[in-house]
Amino acid sequence: MARQLDVLLLSSEVEPFAKTGGLADVSCALPKSIKSLDHEIRIMMPRYGSIDERKCKLHEMIRLKDIPVPLGNKQILASVRSSFLLNSHSKVQVYFLDNHSLFGRSGLYIHPETKKDYRDNDDRFFFFARGVLEVLKRLGWQPNIIHCNDWPTGLVPVYLKTLYKNDPFYKDTRTVFTVHNMAYQGVFPKSSFNKTGLPAGVLSEKGIESDGMINLLKAGLVYSDAITTVSEKYAEEIQSSAEYGCGLEDVVRRRKDSVTGILNGIDDSVWDPATDKSIPHKYGIKTLDLKLENKKALLRRTGLPFRGTIPVLGMVSRLAEQKGIDIIMDVWDELMTLPLQLVVLGIGEKRYHDFFSKAGKKYPEKIAACLEFNEDLAHLIHAGSDMFLMASRYEPCGLNQMYSMKYGTVPIVRATGGLDDTVEDFNPSTGKGTGFKFKEYHGGDLLRVVKRALGAYATTTSWRKIVKNGMSKDFSWETSARKYVQLYRSLART
Ligand code: ADP
Repeated sequence: MARQLDVLLLSSEVEPFAKTGGLADVSCALPKSIKSLDHEIRIMMPRYGSIDERKCKLHEMIRLKDIPVPLGNKQILASVRSSFLLNSHSKVQVYFLDNHSLFGRSGLYIHPETKKDYRDNDDRFFFFARGVLEVLKRLGWQPNIIHCNDWPTGLVPVYLKTLYKNDPFYKDTRTVFTVHNMAYQGVFPKSSFNKTGLPAGVLSEKGIESDGMINLLKAGLVYSDAITTVSEKYAEEIQSSAEYGCGLEDVVRRRKDSVTGILNGIDDSVWDPATDKSIPHKYGIKTLDLKLENKKALLRRTGLPFRGTIPVLGMVSRLAEQKGIDIIMDVWDELMTLPLQLVVLGIGEKRYHDFFSKAGKKYPEKIAACLEFNEDLAHLIHAGSDMFLMASRYEPCGLNQMYSMKYGTVPIVRATGGLDDTVEDFNPSTGKGTGFKFKEYHGGDLLRVVKRALGAYATTTSWRKIVKNGMSKDFSWETSARKYVQLYRSLART
């Protein structure tokens, strides 16, 4: 039998402890799935002030207290708390790396009121990266793989290839670096470099420097042993142009032989209409009629009138430029002439908040603008909508389109990244397909595809077919978890 692997997954957000986006979902579901494949996997994340100690059942680890972590010419003390993610038949241990003055605040990366990045994010995530390596040594646990995710973990591979290169403790440890979004790079002035304690040569264009700044995403891309992206299409896109590669396309291209796209899955224990605790009427492919009851509940909950045959278009999204809100705004007036109702759930940039709250006031029977972060409502939107809109400018993977298919809600998406990999355009002559796709990032194309979806909606038999096609798809984590294990195994010295 193949040997069990020891893996540490590092992430700056993990559901249910701290979340701003899909990274948190992945950092919870992937380890659970890998554990089910009988490997030892543990998680380490920062211990933010917003994590409720009692609710999340955090306990102190006496052995892991007051561990000195170098930051510039200071030694910062780290301690560790621990809790678990519960799986149906096993538990995944989660370590919370703590230093109160750096992480004991409610925001993850930005100040909740000013919406600005914390000014000491360099200190916070330099400390996190170095702290992880110091803590593991104290713990005496030598993972075969440290699986890093996004820029907050980008320095870990650099430390392992430099300061810890000859450390016998890490001689068999390899790194995987997963890119969930190329646009967030963790960029800091070069003047911060001496706080990393890294050798001077690292601060160069060959190393972690980009455009005269320290770039932590680049750090992960250059120094990790393998790179993954969260869909196959995104792996191609980020090498193809500056638009997708966000200035690091050449860096990725230079490592093309080490790049693999592995699609995210969805956590069935959280996202399943048959067992979902957040929706009033549980249903499945054989009890689809109950979906209508959820639609009524959604409309009641969001203050919209129930209009029989008029479809509800749902959106659950960070309100950021990436999500394609601009092209929706471009064709807004025409969109409002179509027979549909729209429920939007999201928080983000002020200009989008202003737009949707104004639109909600102007069309009170057509639009519900829920400008908040609300997990329960997100579930109800997936259950109660007929269609789900994702007009993304780019989308590394996207989870919502998979949730929506699972809930029998037909996705309308732009054919980019993971949206293109997971949604198959409906073909009325073959009856195949799970949704509707448009190619160009353009309001006119978006409008045309919405009209095409409305046309299909009017033909009940076609619509049922699309709904069922989507619900029958397998988006479970297991397939992807096996691909990660294969990758880990190819790197690990076991
Ligand atoms: P991204 O990671 O780019 O934000 P994804 O589609 O991969 O996009 O994941 C978004 C996750 O965050 C999903 O689980 C989605 O339901 C959730 N989400 C986003 N905005 C909200 C919100 N306002 N309320 C509740 N959940 C939200």
